[in-house]
Parts: sequence; structure tokens; C-alpha cells
Amino acid sequence: MWRDLLPVGRDKETRGYRRHAWTGADADCRAWFRDQAESRGLTYELDRNGNQWAWLGDPEAGGAVVTGSHLDSVPDGGAFDGPLGVVSSFAALDELRRRGAEFAKPFAITNFGDEEGARFGLACVGSRLTGGHLTREAAFRLTDADGVTLPQAMERAGYDPEAIGPDPERLARIDAFIELHVEQGRALDLSGDAVGIASSIWPHGRWRFDFSGEANHAGTTRLVDRRDPMLPYAETVLAARREARLADTVATFGKISVEPNGVNAIPSLVRGWLDSRAAGQDALDRTVTAIEKAAREYADAHGIDVTLTRESFTPVVEFDHALRDELSRILGLEAGLDVPVLGTGAGHDAGILASSIPTAMLFVRNPTGVSHSPAESAAEDDCLAGVRALADVLEGLACK
Ligand SMILES: [Zn+2]
Repeated sequence: MWRDLLPVGRDKETRGYRRHAWTGADADCRAWFRDQAESRGLTYELDRNGNQWAWLGDPEAGGAVVTGSHLDSVPDGGAFDGPLGVVSSFAALDELRRRGAEFAKPFAITNFGDEEGARFGLACVGSRLTGGHLTREAAFRLTDADGVTLPQAMERAGYDPEAIGPDPERLARIDAFIELHVEQGRALDLSGDAVGIASSIWPHGRWRFDFSGEANHAGTTRLVDRRDPMLPYAETVLAARREARLADTVATFGKISVEPNGVNAIPSLVRGWLDSRAAGQDALDRTVTAIEKAAREYADAHGIDVTLTRESFTPVVEFDHALRDELSRILGLEAGLDVPVLGTGAGHDAGILASSIPTAMLFVRNPTGVSHSPAESAAEDDCLAGVRALADVLEGLACK
């Protein structure tokens, strides 16, 4: 499976993957998924939101156990974020068949569409639509950098965008969704474990800071006469790092826009975007409040106006406790493993679906912790341990 996927959507220069939603590379990934499903005698299905399903047993019967992840990537992404979950799902089914396991419930493997949001700027579009967290109207307004809307992109890829929308009947037929994913951090590397279970997805949000000053000539304006918004912005970046360290959270200014953006001009406006995440809501609130306070003080000191806009916010997602305990029990029994339970600062389809159905996640060790980069990696032994763990879980949940 990895050999098939290796060249799909890979950039020759960066060696990173560009499998963006509804592009040719995405179509190749989807064709691969369908092949894998059909070669195993599974019933292939495309849902109204462009998510792919491979069914064993009757989807209509209810009580289904579903596993899967996504095949799309961020710009210049790595090989494992997404595909590891899909490949492991097919491999786990193969393992269960080798064991002679008999399914007592309907079972499906999924590929959720447009998880990374690389093209239209919103993550988890496929699962959000299905769960009713993204309206049809809002989805129709999504536009890529070339001005192509989501329905146009779907249509060009040969899909019918008219059908998109919430799919509660589908979700009602699912008892459990398990997503295996490469870890996007070093917790498992540090604890020395190949596999872990997710506890929750951290609350996270994005805030825009607009620092407004006065544009002027970089050569002729005396320092004392300047109202330079870059200065309080720079101090705010340092404050974000300091406050995150104090509160044991993360805070990042990763995007900035400057007006007029000239080498020889004092800026009139510096706009910076803060991404902050924390294990708990209180710590996140403390961090962002402290950064805001610092920004206002620095702006005041430089005669600059600053406004703060919260652009998005996602509260903590707790994965289903009963399912999580069941996973711990199964993995403890089957392999004698004391599997660590860890939180994550990254979003996933399983997190979106958690408000509709019981969901759980398994993480596979990432030795460097790097993700969303061609340097993302996982050792073959760890990937195989992930497959065995997933097979154990599926056997415990879905088989006789
Ligand atoms: Zn992912």
C-alpha cells in the first residue's frame, strides 16, 4: 500500500505531498482507496459529502464499527499524517482475516475528504458537513486561492455538490469511530511507547492583532516622531512566548501582514495572527488574556492603537470516556500493554465526530515529533504495532 501511495501528489523539489482536496492528486488517492476496498471484497460507497466508505456487512443494519482517517495533505506535507490511519485500517482488516475473526457488527473503513483544509482554508470539511457543523451555505462560499469555489471544485472532479449537507442518519448507524493517526508531537517518543490512546483534543483558537500606526519615510522621520506599529508587535511576539512558557501552553505568531510593506517605509499597519492552544480552558484563557494585556501596554507606550479579534475558537473535545476505557482494557488484555493516554493540540475528524458518535483515537510514535512536513516519520515496527493495536481494538469492538 505504501509503495502505491508513495509517488501520489509528491512534489519533485520539496519531496513533500500536495494532495489538496478535489485536485488530481486527491483523485488518485481516492481511486487507490476504491481499489483497496474492492480488492478486499468490501462494498464501496461515496457519501453525499464526498467521504469514501468501504463496508463489510450491511451499512443499514446499524451498530457499525468504523475506522479510518484522511488521505489529503497540507502543502508539502509528510507521508503519514492521514494515510497512516487509512493504510493501517486496511492492514488491520487483513490481520483480522488472518486471525479468522468473525465480525458480529457492520464494519467500515473511511477516507474523510478535505481534512487538512489546505485548499479552502477550513479543516475537516467532510466530517464537519456530515456532522452538521458546517452549513451548506457556508460550504458553498468556501473559495480557494484561485477563486474556485468548493462546489465548482467538486463538480470539476466529477462529484455532485448539490447533495452536500448534514448526514445524521448515517451517523446514527455508527456505534464507534476509531481513528489511528501518527502522533504530532514527541510524547510517545519520550515515554518509550509505540502506541498511545488519545484523551482529548486541546481547546484552541486564532486571534488577529491589528496594530495601527502612521506610515512615513524610513530615512527622514526622526525616531522620536515615529508611530511604528512594528515595535509593539515585535514585543507582543516575545510576550506570547513568555506567557506560554509561564502557563505551560503554546502560543505562536506564524502569520503577519504589513502595510504598506515597503523596505523604506515605516508601517502604517501590522497585523499578526496568534494561534494558541492548551490542555485546559483556564490555561488558554490566562495565556491569551496576558498576551492581550501586554500588547495593549506596548501599543500605548508607542502611541499605537491595537484591536484584537477572535477569528475562531474550538473548545476542548473529550473523547468518549467509555470507549477510551474499553480501548485501554482491550489493549491491556490483548498485548499486556499499559498504553499511555495523551492529549493533543491538533484537530482531527474524530474530534469533529465526537459530538455525534463515540469516537476514540490511537497514536503511533513519531520519533522526531515533526508533522506537516516532509520530515514527518514513523518506524516500520511502530506502524506494525499500530496495526496490531487497531486490529485488537476492532476485534474487541466488532467481532464475536
Ligand atoms: Zn491528520
